[in-house]
Amino acid sequence: MKVAVLTSGGDAPGMNAVIRSFVRRCLWEKHEVFGISHGYQGLLNREIRQLESRDVGMIINQGGTFLGTARCEEFYSEEGRQKAANILNEMGIEALCVIGGDGSFRGLLALSEIYHGQVVGIPGTIDNDIPGTEYTIGFDTAVGTAVWAIDKIRDTALSHGRIFFVEVMGRKSGQIALSTALSCGAEDVLIPEEKTDMEVFIRRLEEGRRKGKRFGIVVVAEGDEAGGAFKIAEEVKQRTGLPIRVSVLGHIQRGGNPSAYDRVWGSRMGDAAVRFLKNHMTRVFTAMKGGQIVPAYLAEAVSGVRTVDPEMVQLVRISGA
Ligand code: ADP
Repeated sequence: MKVAVLTSGGDAPGMNAVIRSFVRRCLWEKHEVFGISHGYQGLLNREIRQLESRDVGMIINQGGTFLGTARCEEFYSEEGRQKAANILNEMGIEALCVIGGDGSFRGLLALSEIYHGQVVGIPGTIDNDIPGTEYTIGFDTAVGTAVWAIDKIRDTALSHGRIFFVEVMGRKSGQIALSTALSCGAEDVLIPEEKTDMEVFIRRLEEGRRKGKRFGIVVVAEGDEAGGAFKIAEEVKQRTGLPIRVSVLGHIQRGGNPSAYDRVWGSRMGDAAVRFLKNHMTRVFTAMKGGQIVPAYLAEAVSGVRTVDPEMVQLVRISGA
């Protein structure tokens, strides 16, 4: 079989572990495997090369994606996708594996309407925001980086008796914020999945001060509907006069060496994708359900939203009180 793989959308640590195991499993199955650089854009530009075992050596520990990734405007149009299908057909590629987020999965599903080879997705995004899977590759590393950064911020927060509003990534999802807040023992967490009630939030902060808290950490998801950390901090400062500072962690969360967890599950998902193809599956992705990797329909991943566990939100507040 001739099989191709690409990474698309935002990069995530652990994508290299996925590619490595996908390629090596393909070779083990005696498939010919092709790497497409720079996502769907690279496919349209015919940036396609055959990969051998040595090509994916020494990448398991590297962040980012050695294939490169991109966003591609042309792929939103039917003509763009038709061109992509033609290129795959011309090369005799019988299956395409896409590692990326929900946008990349939407593109893959749309492509599968025209392209008649098999398609399989692997969830790779730091946001952990894909419905139908408990985990997306990169999340553990990103949370680890945010926790590492906040542990340092806490030292200065304590020395000066300040409250830090720390903004973390996650697009429209609060998953990174929630896990980070719980890991850091933050006072509070503001996420888009829950409407921020400013009165209640401020009361909780002031209550903490009254009870003798000398410093504080509030983790704010970048997509929080009340605004980013700067906007919320400004409002709270004006209304309370509390000594608040803001730190926006930004792209630091997307890079760095993947954690062991991302390498393990990245490797397992890369391998599972090849097995799904062998079993003639298509329009599926490697989902984690109940701690196992199982096939789930791409349609499930692109419909609806991933919810947060309200008990976990409550736990942040109870344990950070
Ligand atoms: P992510 O995969 O990280 O969510 P994006 O949402 O930017 O990232 O999607 C990556 C790429 O997938 C886009 O640049 C585009 O080429 C393709 N894509 C996303 N959504 C669609 C769609 N609805 N139809 C076709 N292609 C899409």
